[in-house]
Amino acid sequence: MRVTPGVADVLVIGGGPAGATTALRVAQLGHTVIVVERGAVDRQYSSAQSIAPGVVPLLNLCGIAEKVEAEFARSDGVMLLWADEHARMASDNKGFHIARPAFDSALRNSAVQAGAIMLAPAVVVSAERIAGAAYPWTSRVLLGGTSFQLRTKLIVDASGKRSGRIRTRISPPLIALIGDWRCTAMGQCSIVEAANDCWFWAGPLREGIATAAVFFDPRASKLARGQPISDVYRWLLKRSRLLGHILEAEMGTAVACDASSRYVNDPIELDLLRVGEAAISLDPLSSQGVQMALTSALQAAVVINTWLRQPSHLAAANTFYRDRHYEAIQRSFDNTRANYSEAARRFGTEFWRCRSGSEDRASAETTLRTPIPLPPPSVRLELAKGVRIDRTAVVRDELAEFAPAIVMTGSARPVSYVDGVPVGELALRIAPGISGVELVRAWSEVLGKSAAIKALAWMWQAGVIAALDSRNA
Ligand SMILES: Cc1cc2nc3c(=O)[nH]c(=O)nc-3n(C[C@H](O)[C@H](O)[C@H](O)COP(=O)(O)OP(=O)(O)OC[C@H]3O[C@@H](n4cnc5c(N)ncnc54)[C@H](O)[C@@H]3O)c2cc1C
Repeated sequence: MRVTPGVADVLVIGGGPAGATTALRVAQLGHTVIVVERGAVDRQYSSAQSIAPGVVPLLNLCGIAEKVEAEFARSDGVMLLWADEHARMASDNKGFHIARPAFDSALRNSAVQAGAIMLAPAVVVSAERIAGAAYPWTSRVLLGGTSFQLRTKLIVDASGKRSGRIRTRISPPLIALIGDWRCTAMGQCSIVEAANDCWFWAGPLREGIATAAVFFDPRASKLARGQPISDVYRWLLKRSRLLGHILEAEMGTAVACDASSRYVNDPIELDLLRVGEAAISLDPLSSQGVQMALTSALQAAVVINTWLRQPSHLAAANTFYRDRHYEAIQRSFDNTRANYSEAARRFGTEFWRCRSGSEDRASAETTLRTPIPLPPPSVRLELAKGVRIDRTAVVRDELAEFAPAIVMTGSARPVSYVDGVPVGELALRIAPGISGVELVRAWSEVLGKSAAIKALAWMWQAGVIAALDSRNA
């Protein structure tokens, strides 16, 4: 890769999980990329965090799975005191306990090894876009007392939730008070506990040190009445049944931070993309913020690759990124409400009620069909009621493009591919009255027989196809 000083394809503002991963992937795809990272350790993230097991395949892609495995402890599970009066151990959630500065630095090193240029500690003080220029963005950067210009084709805003954009809140405001404690009793499990008008999270940071956080609504807070943060923090912790013992340990400084979940209405502007918490911040109860940051970064890299290599596919790339953004918002909204409504049933207080929304989720869930592997050969088929074929943006060979997709009423996302089989394309050939045998014969010409049978089985079991309604025959 040839690098001209002060000029690059992409400028990434922020080298947290989202920014470092975007830079890593964009560099791997052969583009020049500069990351500007403010560099001061953000106290709110210097304590322990837990990352969900689902993050492991993403860490593999980023080349840091082994490092994370070697450096951080695997969780033994979560001690939950939430929906009822009894604490229970959930051991199916075995992610990692991480210290964010070390985790972020592993990701940044991986990005640098892939060819990204890392400027830290540095800040972008201004960015101006000149339409029509080969490198439309001119950004002024401050690095170690020196100011200079960078010219880039694109900007990625990965500066986290303080990115300064107007945001819509997903749920009522939430403040976190966080402190580290000299405490050995924690072991390798984390604790999640609901109380009357707040909830608690705790987990091990490193040998002999644990982090404990309290989440509460600032509108009902004693903070407003001017108490020192550490007093409010201790006062709230006393309400915990599982964490009371920690109060006897030695505590470091307590810090407060905004933990509300918010999103930007559109993560794309002209030649600019927002990733990670600059686009959407999840409720910390999910423990999926880091996973979401990595996922959105990998998606952003596909968009950037498409913008730079295949500009004629820009619309597909933008649709792909916006679709994923809105799905993430919806998922976050649904998950938060589901978790909070469990606690609302237990406590019935305003803190939980205003976060839980409606409780009739179960009735909205789709009913599962009895699984019959394949349609009987004599049955004439058609697309099931509520199913149509549309087009959606998909990723192929790290580029976005439009492809036919199956859209089902009540299902979250149009389906274009299943296990690499282009089911959207295949569904275009389903004429009313065709039999399964005829479909397999037609699809086998392009796919091979076993993939064609698999596609038929999936469509039948997922309810994409159904027996022809005799009124349509
Ligand atoms: C209290 C709390 C607890 C949480 N616990 C968990 C948890 O247990 N598990 C989990 O998965 N998630 C958790 N999260 C969420 C998680 O921290 C975020 O999802 C994650 O940090 C998002 O990564 P990011 O890269 O988008 O943003 P950030 O991590 O905020 O990174 C942004 C980066 O940009 C840099 N930056 C900002 N402005 C500039 C600028 N102008 N110039 C240069 N650099 C700049 C910052 O220094 C920072 O390094 C928690 C969040 C909170 C608030």
